[in-house]
Amino acid sequence: MKTHNYSAGPSILPQDTVKNTAAALINFADTGLSLMEVSHRSKEFVAVMNEAREMFKILLDIPDGYQVLFLGGGASTQFFHIPYNLMEKKSAYLNTGAWANKAMKEAKLFGEVVEVASSKDKMYNYIPKNFEVPQDVDYFHITTNNTIYGTEIKEDKDYGVPLVADMSSDIFSRPVDVSKYDLIYGGAQKNLAPAGVTFVIVKEDALGKVSRELPTMVDYRTHIAKDSMFNTPPVVPVYAALMTLKWIKAMGGVGEMQKINEEKAAILYDEIERNKLFRPTVELKEDRSLMNICFIMNDEYKELEKDFFDFATLHGMSGLKGHRSVGGFRASTYNALPKASVIALVDCMKEFEAKH
Ligand SMILES: *Cc1c(COP(=O)(O)O)cnc(C)c1O
Repeated sequence: MKTHNYSAGPSILPQDTVKNTAAALINFADTGLSLMEVSHRSKEFVAVMNEAREMFKILLDIPDGYQVLFLGGGASTQFFHIPYNLMEKKSAYLNTGAWANKAMKEAKLFGEVVEVASSKDKMYNYIPKNFEVPQDVDYFHITTNNTIYGTEIKEDKDYGVPLVADMSSDIFSRPVDVSKYDLIYGGAQKNLAPAGVTFVIVKEDALGKVSRELPTMVDYRTHIAKDSMFNTPPVVPVYAALMTLKWIKAMGGVGEMQKINEEKAAILYDEIERNKLFRPTVELKEDRSLMNICFIMNDEYKELEKDFFDFATLHGMSGLKGHRSVGGFRASTYNALPKASVIALVDCMKEFEAKH
């Protein structure tokens, strides 16, 4: 039986990515060497790095003046790399959950951080609206998809100041107007590759403005100058990322991804609303994530939670448990999750409802 993988991260990857990376682990680019054994400076791997960067630019239609970097350390490392590079003394953050909080905590080491709005009052189950961003900040930081709470900012807006976005869990799920952002970053392990590589898309003009001295590895300009090869990059995850990027292209690009993601999300949210046992945790439709679909048992069926979890597990569903801070269930419907898996979950919910 095929296991349906709804894990929030690390998460499902396209079968092509898994198979091609597995093959390269045995014999990379006909070198007779494993991808794990080759020099990152070999011409074969340099070609992988260059193609991955080019594919980012093509798929996201990245304008001139931006650079794409592949770094180690995770999105959490970017929480301090960003203020290090971009914050002279004041920045603004939108508090939409745990990741935003972690990002803010690091920025506070560098100066004043303005929390422009927060959805903490309702367990982060909505996206704050109608807030004002102070116009004297060095940048405004948003988390476009809140992996834990299942909320998502799905449009690229102008806030009048340089915009920075954590897109760890929704990159490549929709077209992005990169020109609206000074910097976009994310860990790859949600929608792109196995854990170990972090992507950064940065506008070159945004750099070099802070007065502090930067450690070499923290300075984005180091990695721009060396094409993400200043030190040893995460070779295997970068290769896997390239395989995913090629798969996205073959599928028709990010516009097509968005269509499929909208369709998958609609099928699941509709069932959550229809089914008497469940309800979504995010009430406002416009705020609902297309990537992490969170739902809980209705109050009168609360005691069935564990039963449903066991029932779903028995039916080949993996990774459905909601984050410990939210409870209930979370079905992550990343690009690589087939529509068939969403339908299998809906069938499972219907069957369970019929039994009760
Ligand atoms: C998972 C996640 C992170 C943390 O990523 P790491 O690579 O583990 O540091 C940050 N932001 C968001 C939105 C995430 O989903």
